[in-house]
Amino acid sequence: MAAAGAEVRGAWCVPCLVSLDTLQELCRKEKLTCKSIGITKRNLNNYEVEYLCDYKVVKDMEYYLVKWKGWPDSTNTWEPLQNLKCPLLLQQFCNDKHNYLSQVKKGKAITLKENHGALKPAIAEYIVKKAKQRIALQRWQDELNRRKNHKGMIFVENTVDLEGPPSDFYYINEYKPAPGISLVNEATFGCSCTDCFYEKCCPAEAGVLLAYNKNQQIKIPPGTPIYECNSRCQCGPDCPNRIVQKGTQYSLCIFRTSNDCGWGVKTLVKIKRMSFVMEYVGEVITSEEAERRGQLYDNKGITYLFDLDYESDEFTVDAARYGNVSHFVNHSCDPNLQVFNVFIDNLDTRLPRIALFSTRTINAGEELTFDYQMKGSGDVSSDSIDHSPAKKRARTVCKCGAVTCRGYLN
Ligand SMILES: [Zn+2]
Ligand SMILES: [Zn+2]
Ligand SMILES: [Zn+2]
Ligand SMILES: [Zn+2]
Repeated sequence: MAAAGAEVRGAWCVPCLVSLDTLQELCRKEKLTCKSIGITKRNLNNYEVEYLCDYKVVKDMEYYLVKWKGWPDSTNTWEPLQNLKCPLLLQQFCNDKHNYLSQVKKGKAITLKENHGALKPAIAEYIVKKAKQRIALQRWQDELNRRKNHKGMIFVENTVDLEGPPSDFYYINEYKPAPGISLVNEATFGCSCTDCFYEKCCPAEAGVLLAYNKNQQIKIPPGTPIYECNSRCQCGPDCPNRIVQKGTQYSLCIFRTSNDCGWGVKTLVKIKRMSFVMEYVGEVITSEEAERRGQLYDNKGITYLFDLDYESDEFTVDAARYGNVSHFVNHSCDPNLQVFNVFIDNLDTRLPRIALFSTRTINAGEELTFDYQMKGSGDVSSDSIDHSPAKKRARTVCKCGAVTCRGYLN
C-alpha cells in the first residue's frame, strides 16, 4: 500500500500504476485499512455510501443506485430510499439534478414518467461526474493544506463546471531555485534592537524606511523595498518588522470563476487595507531560460512568468508548474493587491521575494486580483510593459471587467 500513499503525497514520488479498484480489493482481502484510498475501519466490514449515481421509481417505490465507499463501481447496488441514511448526499443528488436540468433548454429534458420511471442517462452521467469531481477537489484541498506552512486555510470550490484539480501543478511554500541558482538563506547582518519599531533596525541598515506601522500595515510607497528582520536579528517573533515571513494569515478559497477566467482566489475573511496577503512563489530561473520557456508556453503559461527586475533582470519566477495560492490569482487592470519586493534572509538584490499587499479593504467573499503588468517594476507606464518577442507574439484579451480595463493582458 506504500505506493498508493506515495502517489497521494505527490509529484516527487513514483506514481502507482495499479488502479484504485485493485488496491481497494487488495486492502479488503488483507483486512488492511488505508485512509488515502478510502478503506477505513468503518467501511472495511460495513458499507458506507460514497455517493448516489442514479434514481428510479418502480411500483411507486423510489430507488437510488449507490456507489459504496472503498468498493468498485461494479458493486454498485439499487437501494430503496427508506434504507438510505445519508440526507446530505440525497440533497447533493437533488441539487446536481436540478443544476443539470436548469442548464439544458426548457422542454428538452424528459420527465421521469416518459422515461419509464428512470432518469435520463445524461442526467445520471452528469451527477456521477459531479460526485467524482467533488471527491477529487476535496482530496486536492486536503493535500494543499497538508503542504502549506502558513496559518490561513486553503479551500477549493467549483460550482460552475466539471473542471477538477489541475493535473500539472505542485504546491510549494517558497522559491524553488533551478539548478545552478543558489539562494543564500542566511543574512550577513542582523540587528540587536530591544525595540525594532523605534531603533536603527534592519531597514535603516539597508538605507530604507521601516515598511510597517503598528497595525502591521504597509506604509511605504509601491516600488520601495521591504527589509524585514531575519534569522540573525536579536528580536523575537513578535517584532513589528516580521510580517511577510509569517506567511498568509487569511483563509482563502481557490474557486472556479463564472466569467470564463478559469480558477480564481477569493478571501473568506475581511482583509484590512495595506495588509500582507500572500507571497508570489515559483521556480527561480534565469531570464534566458524564461525567454526559452516563454516561446514554449501558450498565452496562459506566459502569464505565470514574473520578472525579478528590482535591480537587475537576471532572474524570473515561473509559477506555471510550481507555486502557491498566488498561481490562481487572476489579473485585473483595477486590482486590490499590490506587489512589493521583500528581503529577509536573502539580501541579494537580484533575488527579492515578491509579496502581495491589499490596496484597500477587501471584504469576505471578494475575489483577489493583481495587475500582471506590474510584475516587478511597480510602474505601469507604457514603456515598462515587456515587449520581448515571447510576449509580443500573441496578445491575450483581458476579461477583468474593470472600468479602466486596458483591454489586453500582455
Ligand atoms: Zn531591529
Ligand atoms: Zn532586524
Ligand atoms: Zn526585529
Ligand atoms: Zn482588464
